Amino acid sequence: MTHSTISARASEPLSPVTAPTRPRPRALAPEPDYALEPVRKPGYLPQTDDRSPWLDGPSMPIGTPLTANTFVDVAIVGAGFTGLMCAHALARLRPSWQIMLIDALAVGEAASGRNSGYLMDVGHWQPKWGVETNRGVADLSTLGIERIEQIVEGHGIDCDWHAGGRYHVAVNARGRRALATFREGMKAMGRDFVEMDPTELAARLGTQHYTEGMHVDGGALLNPAKLVRGLAEALPESVRVVERQQVDTITPGTTHRLQAGRYQVSCSQLVLATNGFLPALGLERGRVLPFATYASVTEPLPRQPGSEAQWGVVPEEKMGATVRLLPDNRLLIRNGVRYRNPPQIGASVCAAMAKDHRASLARRFPEFADVPFSHTWGGTLGVTTNNATVFGRFGDGAWACGAHNGVGMSLGGALGHLLAHEVAGEKHTLAHLARSLPQPAWTPPEPFRSVGISAYTWFLGLLAGEEK
Ligand SMILES: Cc1cc2nc3c(=O)[nH]c(=O)nc-3n(C[C@H](O)[C@H](O)[C@H](O)COP(=O)(O)OP(=O)(O)OC[C@H]3O[C@@H](n4cnc5c(N)ncnc54)[C@H](O)[C@@H]3O)c2cc1C
Repeated sequence: MTHSTISARASEPLSPVTAPTRPRPRALAPEPDYALEPVRKPGYLPQTDDRSPWLDGPSMPIGTPLTANTFVDVAIVGAGFTGLMCAHALARLRPSWQIMLIDALAVGEAASGRNSGYLMDVGHWQPKWGVETNRGVADLSTLGIERIEQIVEGHGIDCDWHAGGRYHVAVNARGRRALATFREGMKAMGRDFVEMDPTELAARLGTQHYTEGMHVDGGALLNPAKLVRGLAEALPESVRVVERQQVDTITPGTTHRLQAGRYQVSCSQLVLATNGFLPALGLERGRVLPFATYASVTEPLPRQPGSEAQWGVVPEEKMGATVRLLPDNRLLIRNGVRYRNPPQIGASVCAAMAKDHRASLARRFPEFADVPFSHTWGGTLGVTTNNATVFGRFGDGAWACGAHNGVGMSLGGALGHLLAHEVAGEKHTLAHLARSLPQPAWTPPEPFRSVGISAYTWFLGLLAGEEK
């Protein structure tokens, strides 16, 4: 592995950093055919804004800012579900280790705190994977839900947890084909569901838009920002949370060195839990793609649309709209994906997306078509063209996890938990599932990648029609 000097932005010389004290445990995970390279500047950085409805106003800081050069046993970059669940498990496995969880944004400001809030065991069925791999992903997601629920219950985290299951639905022929595939997959995995006819769906949800559906129990609908912040606040003292501090450079070595603003963080082991920002830190470039997806939420509706006070709908058609009725009687619509490098979640793209969301709302609830949106926002996630996930070791004492393709709350949580076991050199009964997940597929170099992906997503959007 090559070593390079730190391109320090610091205005003061750096004081020496204590040498690492702990031996690295024997690695259980196989090493990939390439390793973490020095990072001199992230390719792109997380952005934030105040457009997500989940964080109501400025939030109290969690943790403490960096004020000196620091040595820790493990530095985890990224305080989303993956990083947080990794930190929780690692602190439990190795209570004497000093762990730092560092994030460029405040906890809850990135995708983990600005998503649609579906904590799901089975999101979609991937026909190419066969039963065993699909079942493995579902088992991993179930593990993620169980671990998160355990912490939520143990620490009394208030995140509006609603365990009423969700509806997987279809609108047109394309959607019904996708739903039929999902149904067969659920049967093959031996998972339970209840068929819903359009009349039953209309009575429960208050829309006649859906022509077929299934009700699936498990997981939860919740407020994601309250959950991630609660998970961060529940961390033990051995985990130091550093918010609003981007990692600017990484110099891999026997002791990895991170430059974070004016200060240097040195660590024996490094975990990159940056999902859509893995390529920005030099990992899986061209394999993990930073996509953005967008959502809008209405003001409270004048009346409850159907018989259920809150619910969540999952489209099985890839480009369909996710729709939720929130507990305060507002409708959330998530729809639209964009691949841009760097990802775009700014005001102008959100304004364009709001028009699409308005059309999605009008199709489903014509009587509420004019209810204003209080918020429209976007978030960055890591996507792979073959729905594969990143999990494992990327060199000596360097680990990474990301690209959870739509079920990042549960799968990211599970993989973070399992990665902690790998970092600590501890066996876990489900580790083999994580290690045998499909590897991200190669995509052509730029500009062919951007042109190809933009054309493909546009075409898929066209095919989706009324599912949007
Ligand atoms: C609108 C929307 C709706 C979604 N709905 C759902 C849903 O309902 N259910 C579901 O399961 N998933 C959903 N997702 C996807 C889900 O949010 C993600 O898969 C999940 O949050 C991934 O978690 P993570 O911890 O791996 O990554 P993230 O939450 O993206 O965390 C990565 C962190 O790394 C930090 N970071 C990156 N670079 C640096 C750096 N250089 N220095 C320091 N920190 C850095 C970022 O600030 C970020 O906090 C949705 C996503 C969006 C955007």
